Amino acid sequence: MGRICLVGAGFSGAVIARELAEAGLPCLVIDERAHVAGNCHTERDPQTGVMVHRYGPHIFHTADERVWAYVNRFGEFMPYVNRVKTTVGGSVYLLPVNLHTINQFYGKTFSPAEAKAFIESQARMDIEDPQSFEEQALRFVGPDLYNAFFRGYTLKQWGIDPTELPASILKRLPLRFNYDDNYFNHPHQGMPKHGYTAIVEKILDHPLIETRLGTKWEEQDEAFDHVFYSGPLDRWFGYDMGRLGYRTLDFEGERAMGDYQGCAVMNYGDPEVPFTRISEHKHFSPWEEHEGTIVFREYSRYCGADDVPYYPIRLLGEKKMLSDYEARAAEVEGVTFVGRLGTYQYLDMDVTIGLALDAASDYLAQRKAA
Ligand code: FAD
Ligand code: UDP
Repeated sequence: MGRICLVGAGFSGAVIARELAEAGLPCLVIDERAHVAGNCHTERDPQTGVMVHRYGPHIFHTADERVWAYVNRFGEFMPYVNRVKTTVGGSVYLLPVNLHTINQFYGKTFSPAEAKAFIESQARMDIEDPQSFEEQALRFVGPDLYNAFFRGYTLKQWGIDPTELPASILKRLPLRFNYDDNYFNHPHQGMPKHGYTAIVEKILDHPLIETRLGTKWEEQDEAFDHVFYSGPLDRWFGYDMGRLGYRTLDFEGERAMGDYQGCAVMNYGDPEVPFTRISEHKHFSPWEEHEGTIVFREYSRYCGADDVPYYPIRLLGEKKMLSDYEARAAEVEGVTFVGRLGTYQYLDMDVTIGLALDAASDYLAQRKAA
């Protein structure tokens, strides 16, 4: 019996490896990076001791009981609620847009019902089936709030006019007519006490799993029973039909003493401010104490050949290239394309883990049937 190869030691590769190993199949997990956990990697900043999310802030939230039970098997989660602020036009507001944001922005004392009626009077109710981000925003909150909170930020984040972006990006955010400023609606939310990397290390800690870091798929010569590939879909094919578009992020770090901004995430909605947000990572671990602090300003730009791919852009014009790559991927024998890069989708961690559990059980069922 040959081994199964998992390309990528992020949640996708690690969870599939664990499931297969528990079913008795030997696995090799490789990653070209020097660490496991993929883009969820966390490490302590040596100078301040703060747990840093190296590839940007990651908050775990889910409504999937199976996934919540799964991650809690491998690490302790501390209670954490993501509360995001935004600085716009010289004032600080609460996100997601809620009754406090609306009352502060318009200088009002609306009740929930009054605010709802007011926003409906502002919103472009004539847009019945919003297609673009802009249409969705105009229908959702009307032009004032769109221009203040969404237009500038989105231009910086995506580098594309919101009239050309899909409505689905904004559908991720709630709009509330009460004072709840929890960024997410899910029943489970938390932060791993010892970081995400410790969780992934524990998932990979099984006698039938070998993990090899600093190793590219392209350099492998072992014959495997099957491959689960969580690298970029277009990279598998040598980009021979072109590159699928991604946004990459540059993080500008700064250390200071004490508390830099008083919260974990401060967005900057004004288009003149070149970064999208500042994250102060010690606030992601409020149960820890640190005298020093480290913050990261986040700059978004188009992802070049040597950059780390973060957000799939999924422009309408790219649909053909994507479906051609997908059709070819479906034909590659002995390989399953998984994860956010292998399927070219924005996937939250809980969705990634759920899909990885499904991919492993589908494979085990097929093997049993064969
Ligand atoms: P990755 O984590 O990307 O792992 C893929 C791995 O494969 C990488 O380590 C890479 O080095 C390796 N690899 C690729 N190609 C090769 C190759 N050819 N050879 C060897 N190795 C290779 N989700 C949430 O739930 N909450 C959040 O708050 C959140 N915040 C996010 C913030 C940002 C900025 C981004 C971009 C994403 C965020 N996510 C969040 C999503 C989260 O990052 C993903 O769900 C998760 O990383 C997906 O795991 P994965 O294993 O599929 O991919
Ligand atoms: N967004 C915005 N202003 C904000 C926060 C978000 O315009 O202050 C838009 C932006 O286009 C972003 C999308 O809403 O890409 C989804 O927001 P989310 O916070 O989910 O972004 P992510 O965590 O994926 O960066």
